[in-house]
Amino acid sequence: MLPEPLLQLIELLARLPGVGEKTAQRFAMHLVAEKSGTAQALGHALTEIGEKLKSCERCGNIAEVDAQGKAECAICRDRRRDQSLLCIVAKVQDLLAIERSGAMRGRYFVLGKLLSPLDGIGPSELPLERLFKRLSDDGVQEVIVATPPSVDGEATSLLLARELTTRGVAVSRIASGVPHGGDLEFADQITLGRAIEGRRSLDSR
Ligand SMILES: [Zn+2]
Repeated sequence: MLPEPLLQLIELLARLPGVGEKTAQRFAMHLVAEKSGTAQALGHALTEIGEKLKSCERCGNIAEVDAQGKAECAICRDRRRDQSLLCIVAKVQDLLAIERSGAMRGRYFVLGKLLSPLDGIGPSELPLERLFKRLSDDGVQEVIVATPPSVDGEATSLLLARELTTRGVAVSRIASGVPHGGDLEFADQITLGRAIEGRRSLDSR
């Protein structure tokens, strides 16, 4: 009933998180009908995502590619930040949530995934070698593990504590306050700030 290009747009929009078929259709109809150039600007912005954005080579945050083709995010570029303090998060959205809390004066490392025995994700799937290199490159002395309070987040936290304490790094875990199974991304700034202030040591020695 609908023209093919419109159907394709609806199908693509429906792949976005939190967007169902009906919402996708509403977005698509809006883009087709509106005359202020939003559709063209959106198309341009989407093309630029692929060309100009990459994962930061140091931490995994989203970064803009520079003239030399390198990608270093604004946090890693900020020399005022304490590079001996490293906060490990599961995903970029968690990094952004912690940044909003203003409680983190160090830098970050984004794992990209969590240990998940049920889904077949073991320690070898995590970017641990890159993490260890980062620890030695930056002379990291303290690591705050800010993985989510879920089964996978706790399993990852235990693995990191074991691996990092043997390397002489002080390891702590953000305090509870973020409800179990909850998402860091959706925790409010005060809760997250307190969770970081109230971190507890995971030293297993
Ligand atoms: Zn970075």
